[in-house]
Amino acid sequence: PLVLGIETSCDDTGCAVVDGAGRVLSDVVHSQLQVHLDHGGIIPPIARDLHAQNIGAAAERALRDAGVSLAELDAVAVTVRPGLSLSLLVGLRHARLLARQASLPLIPVHHMRAHALTVRMAAPEVAFPFLTLLISGGHCLLAVAQAPDRFLLLGASRDDAPGEALDKAARRLKLRNLPECATLAGGRAVELLAARGDPHAFEFPLPLSQYRDCSFSFAGLKFTAQKLAASEEQRHDVVASGVIPTAADLCASLQHAVARHLCHRTQRAMDYCQARGLLPDGARRLVVSGGVACNGYITACLRRVGEALGFEVYVPPPRLCTDNGVMIAWKGVELLRVGRGGTRDLDSVDIEARSPIGTDVSQDVADMS
Ligand code: ATP
Ligand code: FE
Repeated sequence: PLVLGIETSCDDTGCAVVDGAGRVLSDVVHSQLQVHLDHGGIIPPIARDLHAQNIGAAAERALRDAGVSLAELDAVAVTVRPGLSLSLLVGLRHARLLARQASLPLIPVHHMRAHALTVRMAAPEVAFPFLTLLISGGHCLLAVAQAPDRFLLLGASRDDAPGEALDKAARRLKLRNLPECATLAGGRAVELLAARGDPHAFEFPLPLSQYRDCSFSFAGLKFTAQKLAASEEQRHDVVASGVIPTAADLCASLQHAVARHLCHRTQRAMDYCQARGLLPDGARRLVVSGGVACNGYITACLRRVGEALGFEVYVPPPRLCTDNGVMIAWKGVELLRVGRGGTRDLDSVDIEARSPIGTDVSQDVADMS
């Protein structure tokens, strides 16, 4: 099948065409990153207006790049949950418009489930069920994917996501003033600086160390980074860029702390899956995705955990970890395959700002410890 995927849940306008074999026929992403960096964060009405300005051209280009007409598609897939309501609505309305024009079914897609499934495009051996760790700017969760639309939620963040902590640290450290970081997402800027810093230079607490469940917390790490940045500013002369000389050490230490917390929880999830027999013995797999999965240091740490506990670790290429239309189109393909081919009652599809990835078993995880 040929599916057009539309993604507007947050700050990227993504449109892409994918076929049944997982071939990417086109991949258009219009990023709003620079605008939001200027504002110091995402302002929903601005995000909506930018999506509205760009969605028409992005969808057209996705079809043109793929060399297919609207009528040749089998379905239009669109992110309807979770995300910013104003942003989601722009995507849904445009998807409806296109589906109506060509009498195509509309497939509503859950953004986080799509993140989890992307890896199967290139690695079909990742069969259900598998463990997944999804880490991004808005989410942090551990889940077992049992089918394209069936997930068990083992645990999630009680407060911030890791991407949020990294973005805030990058902003506080004024990393944008460095030419090599000027156009980068906060997490990417932290990774770049961390490469020349000492991960043990500053001490960060291990969050929720007394709990043995799969919940996360990044607010404490975010706060510690702000506090350390302030005290380092006191200790050092301010240089022209406004970036403190120990910024690289601070980035490396924060990145290490984020990695440590993620590994700690992932290990716990692996133990839980083992104890409950949730994964097949011969093929235990962990899929890591979401924007923070672009981070090579963090995924290297997770790979070591996988090795120690007998899990094969899969991470999609960075381009597919951040938000894009490809993962939405692919999720559409997966749903078509299992006979969940969307609906022709276009007006019955609605958005949902908040939507758990699946059945919450976090209490069972906590009780087992
Ligand atoms: P979601 O709704 O899934 O939470 P999102 O808006 O966070 O979506 P993503 O593209 O999935 O969008 O993730 C963006 C996050 O990834 C940002 O916080 C960004 O700083 C972070 N990020 C991107 N590259 C890296 C990197 N190399 N290292 C760490 N974090 C990164
Ligand atoms: Fe995302």
